[in-house]
Amino acid sequence: MQFDAELLLLAMAPVFLACIGWEAWHLRRTRPGAQLYSWRDTFCNAALALMQQAADKLAWLAIIPVYAFFYDHYRVTTWPATWVSFVVLFVAQDLLYYVFHRCSHRVRWLWAAHVVHHSSERMNFSTAFRQSLMYPIAGMWLFWIPLAVLGFPPKQIVAIVLINLGFQFFVHTQAVGKLGWLEYVFNTPSIHRVHHARNEHYIDRNYAGVLVIWDRLFGSYVEEDPHNAPLYGIVEPLHTYNPLKATFHEWASMAADFVSVRGWRNKLRALFAPPAWAADYHARRAASASAGVAASGGDTGIEENHTAAFQTPRRP
Ligand SMILES: [Zn+2]
Ligand SMILES: [Zn+2]
Repeated sequence: MQFDAELLLLAMAPVFLACIGWEAWHLRRTRPGAQLYSWRDTFCNAALALMQQAADKLAWLAIIPVYAFFYDHYRVTTWPATWVSFVVLFVAQDLLYYVFHRCSHRVRWLWAAHVVHHSSERMNFSTAFRQSLMYPIAGMWLFWIPLAVLGFPPKQIVAIVLINLGFQFFVHTQAVGKLGWLEYVFNTPSIHRVHHARNEHYIDRNYAGVLVIWDRLFGSYVEEDPHNAPLYGIVEPLHTYNPLKATFHEWASMAADFVSVRGWRNKLRALFAPPAWAADYHARRAASASAGVAASGGDTGIEENHTAAFQTPRRP
């Protein structure tokens, strides 16, 4: 597999833009009044994509030598350049993507980056562009190290990661219904709409990248119910189209919690517990502030001047 995936994605850019144009036109005709696109939301998504792309280019310069180190010193085998090796690489990376994505909803440090993708209340092709420049800091790249140990060179790792993300553009739409037998094998628009929903029945399900078999195997699959329309976004809305605020609000909230809680166990929870820990902490702070008394729970050491900085994350 010797080709440049970055060039492939660049070549796909007109296809992505054409899909956005078609979807906006189609939805305005078929669901007038639903306002499934907004200029401000779409521009925010585009800005987030450009910021993330720039950060990614820089990050790969530092990360590729790490993959090269593991490939040179710890690889268990060497794959010939065949379609078999491509399929093994594709399946292995897609499984690792599932693990990364599930961890991103269960570990606040990773959620701080991933929340950007979920914080829009709209769901359309442009939502796919809504990414965080903080993924390299959060450590997304760590999840691909096993591919180097499996015997895949760094260039192929970068390529398959980009191909996986490129595929995922096409599942961010409300213009496509269920796709028959494909729903059993692949991530589809219907499956990914559920993933972006905050309904009680849907929240934190369907972590698939390309293949949905991992959700079905590991018990995180939920089917879209036509009688239960997805409500998109996070539990407490972000209320901003500012890409910088969207990128950093959860990091700021996490840092404020880390400072305000007492004890190292709570400080570690502020960084690595599921996002629900933070939601609960913030709710207790708000309750204690409105009651005008010290927060219950004793050891959290709540201080009043952080409340405004908090955005409650999506509950796991
Ligand atoms: Zn997600
Ligand atoms: Zn998505």
